[in-house]
Formats: sequence, C-alpha cells, structure tokens
Amino acid sequence: MDFAAELNDAQLKAATHPDGPLLIVAGAGTGKTRTLVYRVAHLIERGIRPERILLLTFTRRAAQEMLARAERLVGSESRAVHGGTFHGTAHRLLRRFGPEAGLPGDFTILDQGDSEDLMQLSRAACGLADKTKRFPKKETLHHVYSRHVNTEIPVGAILREEYPRFIEFEDDFARVFADFTARKQARDLVDYDDLLLYWAMLLEAEPARAIGDRIGALYDHILVDEFQDTNVLQARILKGMCRVHRNITVVGDDAQSIYAFRGATIRNILDFPRDYPGAAVVTLEQNYRSTQPILDASNLLISRAEERYSKELYTKRTGGEKPWLVTAQDEHQQTRFVVDRILELHEAGTPLREMAVLFRAGYMSADLEIELTARNIPFEKWGGLKFLEAAHVKDVLAFLRVLENPRDEVSWYRLLLLMPGIGDTTARNAIQSMIDAAWSHESFGRFNAPPRAKAAHGALVQLLAALRSQSAGDDHSVAHEIARVRGLYDDILRERYDRVEPRLADLEQLQGIAGGYPDRASFLAALALDPPSATSDLGFGGENEDDTLVLSTAHSAKGKEWDAVFVIWAVDGWFPMSRALGDDDQIEEERRLMYVALTRARHHLAVTYPMNVYDTRRGADYSFDQLSRFLDRGVRNAFQRVVLQVSEGLPAPETPAAAPVVDLKGMLRSRFGGGS
Ligand code: ATP
Ligand code: MG
Repeated sequence: MDFAAELNDAQLKAATHPDGPLLIVAGAGTGKTRTLVYRVAHLIERGIRPERILLLTFTRRAAQEMLARAERLVGSESRAVHGGTFHGTAHRLLRRFGPEAGLPGDFTILDQGDSEDLMQLSRAACGLADKTKRFPKKETLHHVYSRHVNTEIPVGAILREEYPRFIEFEDDFARVFADFTARKQARDLVDYDDLLLYWAMLLEAEPARAIGDRIGALYDHILVDEFQDTNVLQARILKGMCRVHRNITVVGDDAQSIYAFRGATIRNILDFPRDYPGAAVVTLEQNYRSTQPILDASNLLISRAEERYSKELYTKRTGGEKPWLVTAQDEHQQTRFVVDRILELHEAGTPLREMAVLFRAGYMSADLEIELTARNIPFEKWGGLKFLEAAHVKDVLAFLRVLENPRDEVSWYRLLLLMPGIGDTTARNAIQSMIDAAWSHESFGRFNAPPRAKAAHGALVQLLAALRSQSAGDDHSVAHEIARVRGLYDDILRERYDRVEPRLADLEQLQGIAGGYPDRASFLAALALDPPSATSDLGFGGENEDDTLVLSTAHSAKGKEWDAVFVIWAVDGWFPMSRALGDDDQIEEERRLMYVALTRARHHLAVTYPMNVYDTRRGADYSFDQLSRFLDRGVRNAFQRVVLQVSEGLPAPETPAAAPVVDLKGMLRSRFGGGS
C-alpha cells in the first residue's frame, strides 16, 4: 500500500507517526478522519494486533464506517479493532470489570428520560415535590447534575451562572443529588454520566489501581476522532487509559465544537500538548472537500467568531460557483424551491444520496417531509428522532426492564401506573413492599393490592411469571417477549392514547428491531446506548432504496459530506435558535454549528430562509422573519442572491390524487415530537 500516493505530506506524517502522543488539529474537510483511518491501517501493518487498538468516535456508525475503510486498506484484520463511542466502550468495560469493584455485571442503563424520572422520585423523596412550584423541575435538576458531573464545575457555580434564581436552593440540590445517587446504586441503575464516571474512577481509584492498570493494558494504541467535542471526564479517562503507554492520537477542530451545551470543552485540544508533554502536533489546511467559493463563504462566516485558532481553509481545486442565498416568501415556497432544485440536480446526474438538507432542529423539516412524500422522493432523517421517547414505546420497554432488573424502580412505577385500577398511592405502596422484601421476584406477587387494583395486579403477576419461567422449548427471544407483553399492553394502549394505529405500528417496529438481538440484556443496552439515529435504522423510509435523500439536523451531519447541501431556515430565532439569543457563548456555539453545516458541501451549497411565517408557529409578534445574524453583509457578499417571486407563475400546491392509504401526517406527528 502506497500511503504517500493517498495522503499529503502532513497527513502522511500523522498517519505514520511512531509511538507517543499526537494531536492533529485542523479545519473541516482537511482529511482528519481520513488520516485517522490510514493511521489505523498503518498500525496494523506495523504489526500492532488489531484488538489492541481502540478507536473512539462520536457515533457507533462513524466507527463502523472508518473501520470499513480501513478494511479496504489492510483487509479483514481491521475488523478486530475495537471501535465505538465512549459510552459504548464504558459499558463494555464496566460489564467486565465492574463486578470486581462492587458494580454488579447486570446493571441497567438509564437513558436521559429515565434519569429525569428517577430524579423526580428523588425530588419527591426529599419532600420537595409539593413545595411551591418555584423549586426546579426534574429536567432542570438533571441538567445541573449532569453538567456538574461532566464539567466538574461545582453545583453552586453552575447555579450562579445559569440559574441564579435557584441559588437559595443549593442545599436542596445537594440533598436531591445525594438521594438520586444512592437510589441508582441501590437499584443497580447506571445513567449515561455514571458510565463515564465509573470508567474514570476504575482507572483512577487507588485501592483498585490494579484494575486500572489492567484496563489500561488492554490497548496499545488509542485514537479519538472529533476530540473537540469531548468533556473533562473523557479527558480524564484518556489519561487513565494511557498510563501504561502514551500512544494516543486525537484529532479535532476547535471551530467545529458544537457540544459545549453538554459539557464538551475545547480546552481538551488546547491543553493536549501540556497534558502530554512531548506531543507531536500536526496541522492541516488544505481542504479536499469543497470548492473555493464554498470555502470562502465558510471562512468568512467563522472569521466572525470571538475566539478561534484554526487557519483559513483553501483548496487546490479551481472553479465552482458561489453558494446561493435564497429568499423565499414563506415556508412552503422554501420547501418547493429545495425540492425543485434537488430534482434538477438529480436530473443532471447527482444521486439523491449525494444530497442533504440540513436544519437546526428536527421539527423544522416537517413541511419538507410532507412535500417529499407527496412527490415520491425517498428520504431518510437523521437526528431529532423521538421514536424511543414515545410514551408507548417506553411503556413496552418498562416491562422488559423489570424482567431484566427487578430493582428498576422507574420502570416499575411506569408500568404500575399503566394498569387499570392502580394509581399513584398503590404504585408507591407496591414498590415499597418490594423494597422491604429486598426486591425478591415473589414480593410483587405477595403485595396485597386494594380491591380495585386486584384484577390488574393479578394479570401483571401472571404475565411476569410467564415471562420468567424458563421451560425448555419456550421461545425466549426478545421479540417473542414483546409479543407476550403486547398481549396485555395493546388494549391498554388503545384505552390510553389517541392515534392508535401508528403507535401499534411503532410496536411492530420495536419487535422487528428486537429480532436482531441475541438476548434481552443486549437489546436493552443497545437501545439505551445507541438509539436508532436515522429513520433507516428503524427499517422504514429507505430500507429498500439505495438512493435516498438525507434530511439531518446540523448536529447529526457532523463529519459527513455531500455533493449538494441545503441549509434551510437560516432565520434568526431558528438558526441561531431563539433560546440561544441571550447568551454569548451559546451564540458562538450556534455560529460554529452553522459553520459545520456549510462545510458539509462539496459542489453546491444553498442557504434558504423564508421571509415570513404566517402560521402561528412563533406567535403574533414575529410575523416577519429576519435572516440569520451569522449571514451579515460581508458574509452575504460571498453568496449569490436568489429571490423567489411571490407565488404567481409557480405551480399551485399539488393535491394528492386519492385519499392517503396511511395517515402519514399522523405518523409524523407521533414520531417527531408531536406525540406524548
Ligand atoms: P470534518 O472536519 O468535516 O470531520 P475531516 O477533516 O475529517 O472533515 P475528511 O472527512 O477526512 O475530513 O476528508 C474530507 C474529504 O477529503 C474526504 O472525501 C476525503 O476522502 C478527502 N481527502 C482528504 N485528504 C485527501 C487526500 N490527501 N487526497 C484525496 N482526498 C482527500
Ligand atoms: Mg472528520
């Protein structure tokens, strides 16, 4: 393999760097990810055993793609490389090493919604539920908790900075957090933050030093992509993993840091040379992705950032037209422009899969999704998916989770409240009786249910017993378990929710996904750790199509590239999002996010904004929308302006020929945030 033919000098130097710490800091599209792939290939060629290489990426999908590319370079050996996210890796290591440190191997992972629900229980247990509504909500409590864990900023400082009105409750926060922590531990529940925290602690704790050293000794080389989006805890983990050796390669771009809202800090990049003395630093400036006019616009946009360290990007490629800045009269005209232009480019030979439409938040593509469906253009959607957050999906998962972990209080509470005749008091009493009996399997059966709850209690006891019984010949697949649960649950669903059909269809999907997992534990862990991030992961919208358009949030588009990119809703209050408008740091993060969006394009880039929004989406005082503040006059000069004319001359909106067979709008509403 001739590396020199595939990489430029700086990339080659990085890919073939000998042992020792290495930082690659470079702008968008300069080949950071490509260099990392070649470095993995190079290490394997050099004789490093692939299973002793750890590749950490932002999504599991990204790791898979990189390893597939490495496979093309060095063959199937690369399949043994351990690739995945920090959380996924933490999970794997904790299952293996946790039991030696007092964490049982069968812990249950709580996703964010579960953690918030548990926080609510802690809030109530601390007697703060009935206090005046001035005491923060579970979401706020959880946000502060998570921020504290991920940034190591003291709770008091977070309150002063973000929630000064809650300062007087600082002691109460501490009480709730203490209960929350104890509650999780007593029930073997582990949330996302705990995964990282336990990993870091295993590596660092003195009495367990032996474990830390053994974990560190599992790998000879660690490589991290998108390092700008890691947090303090992840930096600590990397330190711990590198105690035995110092073979760490990190790549990142401070101008693309977009997860500060979740505690990420570019200090990790800036301080790397200090944290790893003697680290080699490679910078890359030649962009291989985009045309110069697209880079000019992107460079200008990011040049307005308050703080920045990366250099101007350039390409050796010549030609390319200026990106378009498109003014539409309203949302629907914006939609029709995007769809028409996509079809035009498609006619001219660009496959749909080489085009993407990006937006700030998942709900902003609703009109576009309807239009694409009406015009029969296949698409898949990345990010912003609410499938697993849908109440009915969580309901079914609650059954599986109490089977998996009988101490899973959140799931017990959820499923008890589902049952007809069981209310809050009965649910709490039932849970207390199980706590008193140390969560033994039989304790729920012995619970003395009040008369009106007797039938439901009996039905639930029977179902759980049937699912627990392990007679030979029984089908114990997760899909089958879901089918059994639905025997009881589907009627409850029909009673409790509207729009029954799409919800039942979701449960079919869930059953289908479950079919791909060997057992319940791995199914539940995968859903919590790696929730489906694209509609195609769920098996609809493009399963049989290899040519589908991508709709994506800007966050989920990180690291990707397409021939043609449309950034829609470039409207102040939408991008940047309105909740960022009052906070300078958040505005800067939104600007970097816009930069990420623009730099995804290879040849065509169009940024669009509707001038007015005449439905009531934003309330009456905002009838006229303003172009995003990031596209100031100077930046606009890097674009060519396209102003779409008032509707005359444009085709009237098409009306579907026949009544729709499926209630598509209903499905969208229930799936993308409308459902409860
Ligand atoms: P981002 O910051 O968006 O993650 P990146 O720095 O990781 O970008 P890559 O995705 O690795 O950049 O590369 C961008 C594009 O440029 C890819 O299509 C890649 O294959 C191509 N590329 C990078 N380096 C070279 C090279 N030396 N020769 C040819 N193509 C290259
Ligand atoms: Mg990359």
